[in-house]
Amino acid sequence: MATPPTTYATSGLRVLHDSTLGRYVITERTIVPGETIAIWRGVEISTREALQLPPEQRHQLLQVGADRFLYTESDHLCEVDFINHSCDPNCGFTDAYTLVSLRSISPGESITFDYAMSDTNSFIEFSCMCGAPTCRGRLTGNDWQIPELQIRYAGWFAPHAEELIRTRHP
Ligand SMILES: [Zn+2]
Repeated sequence: MATPPTTYATSGLRVLHDSTLGRYVITERTIVPGETIAIWRGVEISTREALQLPPEQRHQLLQVGADRFLYTESDHLCEVDFINHSCDPNCGFTDAYTLVSLRSISPGESITFDYAMSDTNSFIEFSCMCGAPTCRGRLTGNDWQIPELQIRYAGWFAPHAEELIRTRHP
């Protein structure tokens, strides 16, 4: 039986833990702009299946399509599965599975993306404590509709979010 492809994570990442933020990821080396940080692989499930998962596992999902989520079993999780949301992110998507750096990232800095770039579902909602001056405070699966974000992240949304923006907010 063929082994399913595994998630790619760039070198020099480290998962840390904070009592408030939970697990998060930093780089231990300088990352240059445009570097591939992650290419996620896993089992794809539907929204209906996602809703059957316990909340903590649901939080771990990456939305990869209008009705598709990437699910990784807990013993197969790697560094990039703990990349946090930030309202002032340093990474963005080039396709639904690939995360690249938007700017240079210094050693010790957190690796982040804005969940608005990929989450368009009804079940993601949490208080944000990213600490960015632009922090939205509360995060929902409707944040892709915010005009300011559509401009700021133009070209860096996952394709299913890009598609929604194009068709619903021309
Ligand atoms: Zn925030």
